[in-house]
Amino acid sequence: MTKPTVHIVHHVDTEGPMREPLDELFERIENTIGHPLNLSPTKENLQLLQSSEFVFINSEIDQLLKKLIDPKLLSFKNTWNEVDEMLDRILTAEYRNKFKDSYGNGWIYNWHLLDHVGFDTNPRYRILGYSGIFDLYKTKLKKLNITQDSLQWHFHPIPFNKAAHTSAISYMNSAYELQQVMCRRLIDSNWFPVVNRAGFHTVRPDSNWWLEQWLPFDASNQAMANDNTGFNDNINGRFGDWRGAPDDWSLYHPDLYDWRKRGNMRRTISRCLNMNTRFRNIDTVELSRAFQLAEKTGRDVYVGITNHDFREMSVEMEAFYEILKDVAAENTNVNFAFSNTIHAFQKSSGFSEVEILNSKIDLKVELINDTLKVEVINGEIFGPQPFIGLLTKDGRYLTDNFNFGETGSKTYYYTFDFLTLPIENLKTIAVASNDKYGNTCIRKIDL
Ligand SMILES: [Zn+2]
Repeated sequence: MTKPTVHIVHHVDTEGPMREPLDELFERIENTIGHPLNLSPTKENLQLLQSSEFVFINSEIDQLLKKLIDPKLLSFKNTWNEVDEMLDRILTAEYRNKFKDSYGNGWIYNWHLLDHVGFDTNPRYRILGYSGIFDLYKTKLKKLNITQDSLQWHFHPIPFNKAAHTSAISYMNSAYELQQVMCRRLIDSNWFPVVNRAGFHTVRPDSNWWLEQWLPFDASNQAMANDNTGFNDNINGRFGDWRGAPDDWSLYHPDLYDWRKRGNMRRTISRCLNMNTRFRNIDTVELSRAFQLAEKTGRDVYVGITNHDFREMSVEMEAFYEILKDVAAENTNVNFAFSNTIHAFQKSSGFSEVEILNSKIDLKVELINDTLKVEVINGEIFGPQPFIGLLTKDGRYLTDNFNFGETGSKTYYYTFDFLTLPIENLKTIAVASNDKYGNTCIRKIDL
């Protein structure tokens, strides 16, 4: 009998370099702990806070403080050169093969690329602009001839203060930028997302519904049996609220009204835990549960792990691999594989290769006078409608809803005229859709 496989899927929230000046750090500590430090933001004071002798308020709060300012968590890559230097090390075949899975294969990365857009201030010196980080990574992976990694979706909603380092949770408040990222990547780079990693680990009704239109997979569930972390930015379900979601590594389809509940939506959500952060970390106990689920059910299991490219990733990967080797050694009836996220979702959902191939989404796109007709000629689209991206001759990127054909016709229309855009103003029309298996079809018309 073949052994089931635990898929180790490394999701990198790919955000490029960042710096945190000491005054910013001290402010963040105060906000996260919920107590004033009454210390000037100097290197000496930081070392004082980090020292084991320092007593701040009480052991409970002091413990949170120590976790938050663990030197490992504060060692940011300050510039693209520093990130690039790390990538040159960790992307080599030699480095990947230091970690061998049960099939003799090396490490695989899934890069969830963020555009920092819609912000007015940038105190952490992040790389701003549409496709900024996306293009750096795309170029890097192409230059190194890397094909095993995947490029996926990550989005940070825009906060009221429009500062590039402030967390926010509303897709609706960020609708313009959201659609711009989609249109530009589709039209400029022939790219369409399949797998989501929620920004700040946070899904809310608006993102739950937006994602459901196009992305079949979502590696964002951080449910933990005990989610009471004590940090101020985590109170009452603020950010990354996965309370009540499955915490046993099973995949699930979310509910229309509550993304944490099992429901009738079609998107598949996996669990994905942090690598060495201040909370919701992968550890021996959690990883063992995944192996045991695979053994019990005889089915493949999806284990998402996540970190950021602005820290030294090798340290976190190597620490995780030590845990992985121990857990694998104790669970010899189960294999493990470093996996591409789409492949891991397919295998853990139980889709067969034949089904994935035979049902592969295919679209026929034609322009008949001023009307675009999109027909699904094989398989089924994921979500209610394909995505349409338009580029005008004066350089604007636009999207819209389709008009639906007769019920059940699997046909969609879009009319170009004075109510939308006259066809002569258009440079490019792009249409994209995934299917539930994670196959993607992109069709383009250059005018
Ligand atoms: Zn992020």
